[in-house]
Amino acid sequence: MIVVLKKGIEESVVNTIAQRVEDMGLKAHVIVGTERTVIAAVGDKRNGEQETLESYPEVEKVVPILAPYKIASLETRQEHTVVETGSLKMGNGHVGVIAGPCSVETEEQILESAVRVKEAGATALRGGAFKPRTSPYSFQGLKEVGLQYLAAARDATGLAIVTEVMTPEHVDLVARYSDVMQIGARNMQNYHLLQAVGEVDKPVLLKRGPAATIDEFLLAAEYILDRGNPNVILCERGIRTFEAHTRFTLPLATVPYLKERTHLPVVIDPSHGTGIASLVKPMSRAAVAAGADGLIIEVHPNPKEAASDAAQTISCEAFAELMVECRKVAEALGYQMGDFVATSSTGSREDCNRVVAEEIN
Ligand code: PEP
Ligand code: MN
Repeated sequence: MIVVLKKGIEESVVNTIAQRVEDMGLKAHVIVGTERTVIAAVGDKRNGEQETLESYPEVEKVVPILAPYKIASLETRQEHTVVETGSLKMGNGHVGVIAGPCSVETEEQILESAVRVKEAGATALRGGAFKPRTSPYSFQGLKEVGLQYLAAARDATGLAIVTEVMTPEHVDLVARYSDVMQIGARNMQNYHLLQAVGEVDKPVLLKRGPAATIDEFLLAAEYILDRGNPNVILCERGIRTFEAHTRFTLPLATVPYLKERTHLPVVIDPSHGTGIASLVKPMSRAAVAAGADGLIIEVHPNPKEAASDAAQTISCEAFAELMVECRKVAEALGYQMGDFVATSSTGSREDCNRVVAEEIN
């Protein structure tokens, strides 16, 4: 149920009503909007809760939430969630751009990637330190050392760090080094992992499982929201179909469809979605045109040498071109794309060059 409060209700009263919701055995999520505050009362309803809550003079109305995903639903919160962390801003007209290699390989590689993608307009750096690989014999990532290199790249460039966490035991470790924790497609329904990141005060980028329906995807997000973390970014990265020409099938209709159902930002991953480097730019343009709140793109200073996902990885030069074209689309539609949010740790271009030169020499 959504308990819609009248305008201008004091916080102490909001807390009293939220407590009453909890006393009924339901969970109360207080959502403060610019217009008014609502309390999402979630859980197993029995009898009479609606009438009891409606009897408060400060309550305007109580309405049921029809969607199975309660907190993620647009019914609960009509304002679009904007996720903002360090240099990255996504949602409600702000198109964030996360770029970088599939895997962190060396300190020079991640530093050079960071400087180059920042120069082209990226607002966050990606790079896997813990890699979920289809084969146990493939490169599994540099683990904590990789996280340290990512942190060095953030120090040098001021770019927010997006990196994957694969298991609940690593959540604290990955949270310490990153700005956004990525849940990979293979882990979308790892409910203990979802709950663990739900308890951390760091945004989560949740990738859609290649065989998950949209409802399953939103219910996975709900696991994170339910644990109190409101900053969930949904990422469409392609699904498995009969089609074998591309690595996955990238359904861009997911963007407007999700926007009719949820207030959470929606990001497109054209790299995993297609698996083919030459398709990344056109699909990025199309994603921006479809209203995506962000892109996550695999970029490497030397794609052929990439330790993972080389076939879908684009060069820094190709990424710069992609940004120019996507910005035109964004501008035409009135979106702000690649607006790097400077933070106190943001290094100047000279600082970045110096750090890279030091690392490489
Ligand atoms: C990745 O981002 O490198 C990755 C492993 O993605 P996915 O989980 O979508 O396969
Ligand atoms: Mn990859």
